[in-house]
Amino acid sequence: MKVLFVAGDPKPERWTVPIKELLPEAEVHVWDANGPAVDADYAIVWQPPEQLFEREKKLKAVFNLGAGIDGLLAVPNLPPQLPIVRLEDAGMSAQMAEYVLHQLLEASRGMETYREQQRQGIWKIHRPIKRSEWPVGVMGLGHIGKRVARTLAGLDYRVNGWARSKHDLEGVSTFSGTENLPDFLQSTRVLVNTLPLTDETRDILNQQHLSQLMPNAVVINVGRGEHLVEEDLIKAIEDGHVARASLDVFRQEPLPADHPFWQRPEITITPHISARTLRDATLEQITGKIQAHHNGQPISGIVDPSRGY
Ligand code: NDP
Repeated sequence: MKVLFVAGDPKPERWTVPIKELLPEAEVHVWDANGPAVDADYAIVWQPPEQLFEREKKLKAVFNLGAGIDGLLAVPNLPPQLPIVRLEDAGMSAQMAEYVLHQLLEASRGMETYREQQRQGIWKIHRPIKRSEWPVGVMGLGHIGKRVARTLAGLDYRVNGWARSKHDLEGVSTFSGTENLPDFLQSTRVLVNTLPLTDETRDILNQQHLSQLMPNAVVINVGRGEHLVEEDLIKAIEDGHVARASLDVFRQEPLPADHPFWQRPEITITPHISARTLRDATLEQITGKIQAHHNGQPISGIVDPSRGY
């Protein structure tokens, strides 16, 4: 079995040494833009170059080093029949639940107010929050959204969840399909986006949808930058309908130095760190699936190209 590692890590041995340990019979190669074909059976990739699919004609599956496969699907010559396997959780959902909880608490528990009071040496206690005033709506109930929704529901927040298909989640009011999106939005104050980027979800955080949220809304985007219509968010903040936003992903990354988001006190910016790829958990999952596929066993996490995720 031949495995090809194709990701722009300047130290690829951080990946290939453990891959070799986990798959002792495999011949493990690192992508060389100027090298010959290695006739790999499996590629482990992050945003691979087009030449990969021109050169490697014997691939049986491609394993993506992330949950979102929008970058891989954008490669124009990706063979349509080639199975794509995305990362399933692999330690990301816990990180995401922490991130979203942190951003929610900043708003709901007024942490910024207490930080400002500390700067001024003020000891002042504000009234306890009413959880009923902070209903959260999680868009996407997959590996990540489900964990986020369950975590917040476990802390007695009112949680709504929205997905394409119907879900049954304890403690979460679930909505499905575009026809139920208005009901979901209208009962949500804190909107958390964990959707994959597809033709259907691109630009979904737009004026029409943001305006349906409850007043003093909060937007937390950990999906993809292309989900958010940036000027619509700024307009909603200026109108006072959206009180604050926490953004981890952007249309252009790194966020350009002159981007208006940097100057907005209502916006918290993080550089795409809400859920990092954890090398050990990731490689354990991917190599386990490569071995299973090699042995002719079924594997989970194969992307459905017709859905785009
Ligand atoms: P999953 O595929 O497990 O879940 C996707 C969820 O989105 C499903 O519940 C699915 O519905 C729902 N969905 C997809 N399309 C639609 C639609 N048109 N309308 C309504 N719901 C829809 O993905 P993960 O949870 O593993 O990951 C989600 C995304 O999170 C990734 O694609 C990536 O973009 C982002 N991400 C961001 C990271 C970061 O660091 N910021 C890190 C990791 C992931 P259904 O259940 O009905 O199929």
